[in-house]
Amino acid sequence: MNSENDYEVIKKCRVCGSLDVVDVLDLGMQPLANSLKQKANAQEEKYPLTLAFCQDCSLVQLRETIRKEILFDSYVWVTGTSETAKDYAKTFYERTVNISGLKKGDLVIEIASNDGIFLKPFYSEGFSVIGIEPAKNIAAMAKKIGIRTFEAYWNLTNAEKIVSDFGYAHVIFARNVIPHVSELHSVIQGIECCLDPEGVGIIEFHYSGIILEELHYDSIYHEHLCYFSIRSLEYLLNQFNLFSFHIDTSPISGGSYVIYFSRKKRQQSENYLNLLEKENLIGVNNVQTWNAFAKSCYEHREKSIDIAESFSSKTVLGFGASARSSTYLNFCGFDSAHIKAIIDNNPLKQGMYSPGGSIPIVTLKSGMQMNPDLIFILAWNFRDEIIKECRVNGYVGEFLVAFPQSPYYFRG
Ligand SMILES: [Zn+2]
Repeated sequence: MNSENDYEVIKKCRVCGSLDVVDVLDLGMQPLANSLKQKANAQEEKYPLTLAFCQDCSLVQLRETIRKEILFDSYVWVTGTSETAKDYAKTFYERTVNISGLKKGDLVIEIASNDGIFLKPFYSEGFSVIGIEPAKNIAAMAKKIGIRTFEAYWNLTNAEKIVSDFGYAHVIFARNVIPHVSELHSVIQGIECCLDPEGVGIIEFHYSGIILEELHYDSIYHEHLCYFSIRSLEYLLNQFNLFSFHIDTSPISGGSYVIYFSRKKRQQSENYLNLLEKENLIGVNNVQTWNAFAKSCYEHREKSIDIAESFSSKTVLGFGASARSSTYLNFCGFDSAHIKAIIDNNPLKQGMYSPGGSIPIVTLKSGMQMNPDLIFILAWNFRDEIIKECRVNGYVGEFLVAFPQSPYYFRG
């Protein structure tokens, strides 16, 4: 079992510090979602995974914080860049230039810049770019394509250093990283200190309203500490004199929001006000709605188990050994008796076993040789790419997908 020093159970809200934080969903004891195993019977640690709600600022958040060193140890996988992400990088660039009015030579900073694919269009068009990326091997990939990258965590100290060396940034963006950081306040303070008074900050995050409406509970795992609504993110920004004024949608994670903000208050766009109103209408910032969400998650698990039992004599293969699938598979208690193997195209994952259920991870070719009766699309946010790939490789059977909403079959 794990040592109690490996994680902390928070009493205070991660954003506003309130003690009025209540538990809403218990996902049980879960292994770390990215910790694939070398052997099926290898020992692994499990930790409680609980979703909680702050009744003051309405932030949905994890009750447990696993120590960064432990999470980081398990994080050895470079996320392969999908076609969806590549197309989106271009759209992201165009929207950013339009909204910020960037001029040639202006500085653009990305926090947790990964392999640099989102900074690349800015770099190619003559803007000055800096990527901040703590993982050495990933930072090296960005440097290879010409992106100036510093191997560091983003925080107030490093932000101050950047201002003194390079001046203010006209654009600072952080895509799908803010929900993962435990030192939230230092990260936002760093943005405030580094952003030009006329500049634009951008935060992209998997939207809690979509998690709620489409039942994306598979996106809840230990690395993902906060689940922001427009209102709770606004609350966080306002604490540091940053003000949101516009919002766009993004296809990443099956539904994300991109919020634009600045140091000076600007008029909020119609889209921003409309989405904020919609959020209030569906009750994203009410605890009762999240209690109902939890109930639906338990029902979703029952349905999933019934379906798995009806296929017990058939060969079922999963597709996509993502972090997201780990929460779902372990919440339902699925193992290799339910899903014989999981196909994954990442060579680093092939030959390994899924966390918890120890399901073997195989290549597409080996998966096809098992003559599956059913393919269960686990990485459902890449569903269309997966269907195409299976069909091209001769699969003629049905597909099963568990998200969004409810498990169902289709031919695709
Ligand atoms: Zn709060």
